Parts: sequence; structure tokens; C-alpha cells
Amino acid sequence: MPDLRDELFYKPKNAFDQIDEAERKAADDYCVRYMDFLSKAKTEREAVTEGIRLAKAAGFREYAGEDGIHPGDKIYRSVRGKALMLAVIGKLPMSYGCQIGAAHIDSPRLDLKQSPLYEDSEVAYFKTHYYGGIKKYQWVAMPLELHGVVVTRSGETKEVSIGGQEGEPVFVISDLLPHLAASQMKKTMSEAIPGENLNIIIGSEPAKDDDGSDRVKLTVMKIMNEKYGITEEDFLSAELEAVPALPVREVGFDRSLIGGYGHDDRSCAFAELAAILDIEAPEKTCVCILADKEEIGSEGVSGMQSHAFECFIEDICAAQGVEIRRCFERSLCISADVTNAFDPTYPEVSDKRNNCKLNYGMGIAKFTGSRGKSGSNDASAEVVGRIRRIFAENGVVWQMGELGKVDEGGGGTVAMYMALRNIDTIDAGVPVISMHSPYELVSKLDCYMTYKGMKAVYMEK
Ligand code: MN
Ligand code: MN
Repeated sequence: MPDLRDELFYKPKNAFDQIDEAERKAADDYCVRYMDFLSKAKTEREAVTEGIRLAKAAGFREYAGEDGIHPGDKIYRSVRGKALMLAVIGKLPMSYGCQIGAAHIDSPRLDLKQSPLYEDSEVAYFKTHYYGGIKKYQWVAMPLELHGVVVTRSGETKEVSIGGQEGEPVFVISDLLPHLAASQMKKTMSEAIPGENLNIIIGSEPAKDDDGSDRVKLTVMKIMNEKYGITEEDFLSAELEAVPALPVREVGFDRSLIGGYGHDDRSCAFAELAAILDIEAPEKTCVCILADKEEIGSEGVSGMQSHAFECFIEDICAAQGVEIRRCFERSLCISADVTNAFDPTYPEVSDKRNNCKLNYGMGIAKFTGSRGKSGSNDASAEVVGRIRRIFAENGVVWQMGELGKVDEGGGGTVAMYMALRNIDTIDAGVPVISMHSPYELVSKLDCYMTYKGMKAVYMEK
């Protein structure tokens, strides 16, 4: 007798129980590439640089809006070096709409203030201003790298990257010893480390044969001047980001997980990128967006609210004599962003029946937001149905989840800004443990299934 339950009940299954050896191997190979990308892309700028390198190797060319767009063309455009848009031109004109993936490549971190350098008690420091939603206590007593650019008054851009390579020094923010932390330990976690205490130690050696003031600061500035040709005033026009100096590693005896900084959202950004690099002559035009500034509300010229996106799509539309609004209303967008994975150590924040789990595949979130779905895109049942069909036809292991319990908190993505453009949009991506921490965890199979899911959407029949 067949069990009626098998027919009538919905029972999600672990991805490990749904794949064969060949697919397991494909997932492992994919994750080697992802781990390499994550190691190189510690900031949004570096993600753009690495994205362009990979795109060029796959036959993409820079597109400035010139005419002469043909089916099968592979093009990209950088948004001021901080966001990246790629497209593979379809056989059908843009009036049929395009298949879009929109992920972000910025991650929570500590930005240096514009006047960051000072000396106190013969130790030199950088002052910081955190970017995105961090738990400040996680960033003290943690090795940090420094990445970014300094633009001099003459307009020259100096690239800074220090702490990531073997043999390079790292930087660190101090925390109190427990012996003297009686008052600190009584504070709430959000108050224990004030934002103004996130000061990075960058040196302690006083300048020799000098009896002036700020001798340690002088030592540091001398080194930076020799290395980058900058003076203190140049910090005014710099974007320097402190990120955890932790290598991307396999996690667990079975190596089934990946630990690293910035899985949110580079795990989805790479999934989209790797998928579009594989595409040859699709039906509809495929678009991959790696946006900046999602962690602070998708604002700014390189964020998803920026018309840099319209500018790119309109150029392609114009080359085909198509109006962009026709294209948008027939397009589909996967807002490829991470979601939270159920954490058995903190079960109280999640509704187990409606939360993504590690190793259950690409996580779809019909809606995000908080409280009564406030700030959410809330995809239609029709869009969810369409995604179910695409994933079923292509063997994509996926799951449905929402970000924790009702009233427990919440979050947003770029989805609502895509929907605002009259584009059918749904959130989907990799479930993460310890999201926004210096060392986030994801499952290899979920990363691979997100890549597979993006590819299936790009190639929708
Ligand atoms: Mn995100
Ligand atoms: Mn985030």
C-alpha cells in the first residue's frame, strides 16, 4: 500500500540525500572557485575588479552604450568601480523582458573616518565609523586587514591592501581584560563597546632622534608616505575599510561548510556571476547585477536605487529600438541575497516550520521585512509558482523560509527597489549562520544550488 502521506504531504529533504556522486563533485569544484573569489574580494571594489577579470576571461567586453548589440554578445559595465552589471544578449529582443539576478557585494565592516589618524599615550590609532549592521563586540580583539583607496589632491588613486597576504602585518582593536571589566560586563551587548571605541591600533614605535610631539604617529605617517606617497590630508579623500583578517576555510570534519567573511552577499554575487559566465546564446537577455551599498539601504550612485541600472538597460533597449518600460514589465528578477539558516543553538528566534536550514538548498523568501511584512517586496504566488516550475525542471534543490519569527526582527534586500521598477521580483539565496559576523558560515551544497538556481532562471524555457 503506498503511503498517502508521501503523496499529500510536503517534506523538504536534505540536499545530500537528493544528489549523486557526480553532482557532489560538481558542487565541490564550484566551491573551490567560490572560496577563491571570496578570498580575493574583501571589499566591493575588489569584487568588481575580480568580477571583471573573470568576465573578460569568459569573453565579455566593456559596453559604453554604443550601437551594434547582437544576440550572444557578452557585455559589462562598471559603476565607478564599486558595482558591476553584466549582460548576455538574448535571441529575443528586450521587449520580451530580461532575466535578472541582483546581488550585492558590500558587506558590514569598519570604515576609517575621514580624519582617522591620531596618537594617544604613545600608541597610534585609526578612528572608524562602522558600515552596516554589526554587533560591535565581535570586532574587538580580532585581526583586521585594511583595503581601499586614497585619492590625492592631484587626483591620483592609490590602492591600499594590507594584512591579507602571508607576512603582512594586521591591525587590531583592543578589548578590556576581564580582570578590569566589572563595569563593562554589566552593560548590554549593544552598549558594552561604544562605536567611538572602535579605534584600530596601527603602531607603537616613536620616531628616532626626534623630540617633537606625536612621534608614533610620525613613524606611521612616514611608512604610509613611503609606501603610498600620501600625507595625512589625503585621508580626507580616502575610502579605507577594515575587514577581518581571517582566511576562507572549509569547516567541519566532513568539510561540508565554508567559513569566511562576507558570504552576505558574495555567496549569491558569485553564484550569479558564475552562472552568467556559463551562458551562451540565451532566449531572453540575461543580466547580472553586483550592487553596492545594500547594507546601508541601497542608496548612493552605486546602490540598487541608482539609475546607473536604467542607464545600462536603456542603452541595450535603445540599440534594439525598445522602450525600457516594456522591457521592465516583462522581466523577472531574482534578488539574490542570503537569508538566515536555522541555528539549533538559538532556536527561540526562528519558526522551525518556516525557516531555511543548512544543506536544504537555495532559500527562497517570498517576503522579507519586519513586523507586518513592512519594507518587504512580498512576491506574488504567480512568481513563486514560476520559480517552482523552473527549479523542478532543472533539478535545483531549494527551500522556502522567512527571516526568523514574526516580531523577532527582520531585514530587507534590494528586492523592493527592483519591484519599484515594475519588475516581478523574488528573494532567493544562500542560508547563512552567524550572518553579519566577522566569520559567517554557509553550506557548500546551498552555495552550489544557488548557482544552479540562478543558471536555471537565466535559461528559463
Ligand atoms: Mn545581504
Ligand atoms: Mn546583510
